Amino acid sequence: MQRHHNFINGSWVPPHGDEHYTTHNPAHPDQAVGEFPRSGAADVAAAVTAAENVRTAWADTPGPQRGALLLRFAQLLEESKNEFGRIITLEMGKALAEAVGEVGRAAVEARFMAGEASQPLGETYPSERAGFTCQTVREPLGVVASITPWNFPVVSPVRKIAPALAYGNTVVCKPASQTPWCAVFIAQLLEKAGLPKGVVNLVIGPGAAVGDALVNDARVRGISFTGSSEIGTRTYEGAARRLAKVQLELGGKNPALVLDYEDLDNAAKEIVAAAFLCSGQRCTALSRVIVLEAQADALVGRLLDHIRRIKVGDGLIEGTTMGPLASLAQFRTVERYVKQGRESGAALVTGGNALVKEPEREGFYFEPTLFDRVNRESPLAREEIFGPVLPVIRVRNVEEAIAVANDTRYGLAASVFSNEPRVMQECARRIETGMIHLNHGTASQAHVPFGGRKDSGQGAFSIGPTARDFFTVVKAIYTKW
Ligand code: NAP
Repeated sequence: MQRHHNFINGSWVPPHGDEHYTTHNPAHPDQAVGEFPRSGAADVAAAVTAAENVRTAWADTPGPQRGALLLRFAQLLEESKNEFGRIITLEMGKALAEAVGEVGRAAVEARFMAGEASQPLGETYPSERAGFTCQTVREPLGVVASITPWNFPVVSPVRKIAPALAYGNTVVCKPASQTPWCAVFIAQLLEKAGLPKGVVNLVIGPGAAVGDALVNDARVRGISFTGSSEIGTRTYEGAARRLAKVQLELGGKNPALVLDYEDLDNAAKEIVAAAFLCSGQRCTALSRVIVLEAQADALVGRLLDHIRRIKVGDGLIEGTTMGPLASLAQFRTVERYVKQGRESGAALVTGGNALVKEPEREGFYFEPTLFDRVNRESPLAREEIFGPVLPVIRVRNVEEAIAVANDTRYGLAASVFSNEPRVMQECARRIETGMIHLNHGTASQAHVPFGGRKDSGQGAFSIGPTARDFFTVVKAIYTKW
């Protein structure tokens, strides 16, 4: 088992207190994966100093050169995707094919951002006074913090690091405590791609110590955070106290509305894929189905057919389509929601049980679970479970379906299945989410803005050209000739 370090100012260094912790494989919890720094405020201060010291030099590096570095990084991601995929699966459990796909996706996003580094960053305005020109330019924000979760341990940090670098910012990354090896690997690839010292720094350690120190450091001008709505809100409060900019990508309770759709088998296939990928631990996972009563029995039958095809197991074993939950905490949360669901009188269609007797030893395996006739007021219907549990809520008409879809604190993504253009348009207009997918599951693309509303997000959307709104600040320049 290897001991890993922080990456600060271009060097791999142990934490100030020289304390470490061990991560474990969720498929075999008695198997240690690696040892990582338990960093604290002093390590954050050193990383921010390194990022601050090279901030101007990196901002002055021509955009196309910054883009060239990102292209080399994207290429290295692509070339290492099998090796890197294994690391993801070992750290957080998702099936290997999904993990390899995640690395490929990160490469595509990095490549898009490489191109953004050569895009125009300003506008010219007509002047109201003769002999003047009026322009705006966009400048880098400065030092930005990247705070990321464990469920997409490669895409999440790359989605922050790549635009930060493209637009001329320097970065301090704080990965989730569960998936630090992925972050170490990203930093190693950046180093290989020719990253100058201090431009990206990595500090590994607990959220309460490392995250808080980053949020409170006055030199950190922007915080791009992906994670739960609870910690996101806390981050927003901390940033507001010193007027730092935030980009918050938070939780979801994403509905799939099935409204007089002819091809129910296709709807079921799309819904099951979007609900159970990553064992349901995706922010955009479909986590409730809202269906018209007239089609409900048929849809539930089709959902069951597709759920039965899921193969749960160690993500490294070929043929596995759903790995274990990422941690014992996630496993216990899922157990708790399923128990509540049973007690609430919802009809358990399939699943509902752990697949092992001793998860602490045998792995955090839970059956893909489907509940029907779920009460729209129940926790199953309203709260983010972040596991392989899909509740079905029956409604009488389109109006009620839209009302139920909006009846949650979240507003991240939604799918609508309908053959009626009018119904599709009505849903696209009235459902209060950042993203709507018509006639397919909640799969986003690598160059299209991504984000949420309500308790699902705050600040500029990530991915694609909107990333610029977070990673740059506008300056107006008036010139008298
Ligand atoms: P989390 O508990 O909120 O943690 C997210 C990150 O915040 C981790 O790096 C965590 O560090 C850190 N953190 C913890 N306490 C902190 C503090 N006081 N100050 C600053 N940072 C702190 O979320 P998670 O369990 O890792 O991820 C699951 C959640 O992420 C779900 O709600 C999911 O929907 C959401 N998510 C959203 C998106 C999106 O794009 N909208 C994408 C993926 C995931 P530690 O690991 O050390 O605690």
